[in-house]
Amino acid sequence: MSLYPAFARPRDLGQAAEIMGSLSTGAMIIAGGQELMPSVNYGALMPEVYIDVGQIAALKGITEEDGGIQIGSSTVHRDVQDSEVIKSKLPLLSYAATQIGGGMQVHNRGTIGGNIVAMHPLYDILPSLLALGAEVDVLKGEGEARVALADLMKDASHGLGSESLLVRIHLKPMTPSAGWSYEKLKITAGGYGSANAAAIVTLDGDKITGLRVVVGAVSALPVDMSDALGGCRGQAWSEHLAEEIEEKASAEVTDPLSDHQGDGDWRRAMAGVMARRAVETAVSKAG
Ligand SMILES: Cc1cc2nc3c(=O)[nH]c(=O)nc-3n(C[C@H](O)[C@H](O)[C@H](O)COP(=O)(O)OP(=O)(O)OC[C@H]3O[C@@H](n4cnc5c(N)ncnc54)[C@H](O)[C@@H]3O)c2cc1C
Repeated sequence: MSLYPAFARPRDLGQAAEIMGSLSTGAMIIAGGQELMPSVNYGALMPEVYIDVGQIAALKGITEEDGGIQIGSSTVHRDVQDSEVIKSKLPLLSYAATQIGGGMQVHNRGTIGGNIVAMHPLYDILPSLLALGAEVDVLKGEGEARVALADLMKDASHGLGSESLLVRIHLKPMTPSAGWSYEKLKITAGGYGSANAAAIVTLDGDKITGLRVVVGAVSALPVDMSDALGGCRGQAWSEHLAEEIEEKASAEVTDPLSDHQGDGDWRRAMAGVMARRAVETAVSKAG
């Protein structure tokens, strides 16, 4: 091992695949460096080779094709926030991106791909992407494959960050009449959340017909509560339903985080509160 890390800058996806395939462990992809470099500075990580994907044009930007929306993994948070396509067709994601803390530098340099791959429990983007049913393209030596983000997150062998590259995110536009909400409970302005919830609701009259709820920042990975709260379908909003959602959502958090953001019992309770608030706001916006 050399005393100093090496640096590779592929110009396109072909070169990136070649480089990833030829390197041993110890190579790390770097995009905006907003997650990676603090870990290096704290001595928690020491990559032997940095693979800088910032020059690969195919990883940048937001496009619409075949009725879907594609977001390149190197698209920075600011571009997600400012995109008219995202604002009009994926308002939940647009809003969640504005809730990222850290200020201008993080928004201008941090990428949506880096945010996903970090799979940090307190980050803001995953709950919304999971509620929206996102799929992603992943590039490995053998080529690109499209997978549901929810499945990728359960796959411990994904190799993202060293052996494989997140290329782009695929999303379907939200139903225009759907109500949505992203709730972030934070202790300081611009800080990380202690419990977050993304909700999407469709109504027929005053009855709930569709419900997606994903709660983040309360356990190691976001918890998709859509099935557990499936009993809400066919019901109108009421105090009784609100209490039911809060109780069921809390019960879904079986292994709560306990850290400087709050202890486990409180986090579990806040998961319920955030889920209830998110569904209530989404119901009020639907139709
Ligand atoms: C002060 C501060 C406050 C912050 N507050 C928040 C907040 O409130 N909410 C929030 O959500 N986030 C927050 N963040 C985190 C920030 O959003 C993430 O650090 C950022 O999105 C990561 O993107 P990046 O491009 O900088 O990733 P990098 O740091 O470059 O990479 C992060 C990880 O992803 C891997 N990676 C990057 N791109 C790819 C790719 N295309 N394919 C495969 N692997 C890849 C890297 O190898 C690394 O493991 C904060 C960060 C800072 C510094």
